[in-house]
Amino acid sequence: MSIPFCLPLIDDDVIAEVNDVFKNTGWITSGPKVLELENEIQTLTNADKSICVNSWTSGAMLILRWFGVGPGDEVIIPSYTYAATALCVMNMGAKPVMVDILDDFTIDTSKLKQAINTKTKVVMPVDIGGWPADYDSIMEIISSDVIRKKFRPNSKNQKKLNRVLVISDAAHSLGAKYKSKNIGSVTDITIFSFHSVKNITTGEGGAICLKLPNSFDSEEEYKFLKALSLNGQNKSAFDKNKIGGWRYDIIDQGLKINMTDVNAAIGLAQIRKYKSKLLLERKTIFNFYNKFFEDFDWAILPISKINESETSYHLYMLRINNISESQRDQMIHYISSKKVGVNVHYIPMPMLTLFKNKNYNISNYPKTYEMYSNEISLPVYNNISIDDLEVVCKTVKLAYQNLGI
Ligand SMILES: *Cc1c(COP(=O)(O)O)cnc(C)c1O
Repeated sequence: MSIPFCLPLIDDDVIAEVNDVFKNTGWITSGPKVLELENEIQTLTNADKSICVNSWTSGAMLILRWFGVGPGDEVIIPSYTYAATALCVMNMGAKPVMVDILDDFTIDTSKLKQAINTKTKVVMPVDIGGWPADYDSIMEIISSDVIRKKFRPNSKNQKKLNRVLVISDAAHSLGAKYKSKNIGSVTDITIFSFHSVKNITTGEGGAICLKLPNSFDSEEEYKFLKALSLNGQNKSAFDKNKIGGWRYDIIDQGLKINMTDVNAAIGLAQIRKYKSKLLLERKTIFNFYNKFFEDFDWAILPISKINESETSYHLYMLRINNISESQRDQMIHYISSKKVGVNVHYIPMPMLTLFKNKNYNISNYPKTYEMYSNEISLPVYNNISIDDLEVVCKTVKLAYQNLGI
């Protein structure tokens, strides 16, 4: 028997919710299920508004367009993330500027300050594995007079905000807390992913959460962003389909990235029991691993809670003390031979062909390389059995012993 690294939760509740779309509502694209999911996300996060879209990546592109980010602009991101964080920026014609990370895998705020210049429009920290970035430091930096003086607003929304926009890449961190605040209501914009491997999934999908300063009317921005996600059409097909509801307008140049009701139903069934059950199960898995690995001085445990900040328990990012990248690879080779699925989060972007060809160089991101070179992510998903968790632990231990250190 093998133990997969990840499995989406497809239980009776999910099947019943999807069947409800097929059997009862007769409407399969964006409609009532999407609205219900948006409401659930707002309740869970305390965001002012939430807009569901068909992926994190497309949601990020929508927000960059909304803020008027394009050629000549720069967006600051950490060098340690999934490539989508950079690609959404590049696909809008702007340049991702990478900044090295700290010991907790999040963006190094002392280096962030130096990276901001007159071209900077957005800072996009990443809550890696579900652990929130240091948002207080980030807000302090971008709100300081020196940094504000560097801001050159071009678009309507840039003029209205009059400072760098903070977009949280919260692809991993639904349900996490930063200093007792729910992720989703900490920064101007937060974007979650509902890709198949994330804590809550809609197959493919994402959600944009708004917590903008008071100069923005969140109801108005919600309406506008919903239209912008539907080719700029001011009326959804669901409303247009109502008898007599034929007239519509195209109010701006949008993208076509709306979520369907079939997809929303999958996530809806999961999110309803996320806080009360699914998130707690993830926490139990973390605690199980912690209890096993804390006995070994070769194991560096991931951070899961400090004061009022808490992870969403998305990835168990174990690190191994004093090993090289090739020894880590050797461990994974051994673990895989025992049919246990593990992973590395992430191969740093400056080590991937696309970015190397654009002259990003890993030697400029020493901490990123250090953190990557000894990292192994262990399986975390709802319904993994205790027996399987024991097998994972023992296999990792044997893999370490197998190195003969
Ligand atoms: C999964 C992921 C994304 C992309 O999410 P999609 O919904 O697949 O577009 C972005 N950033 C990070 C850190 C991710 O892990």
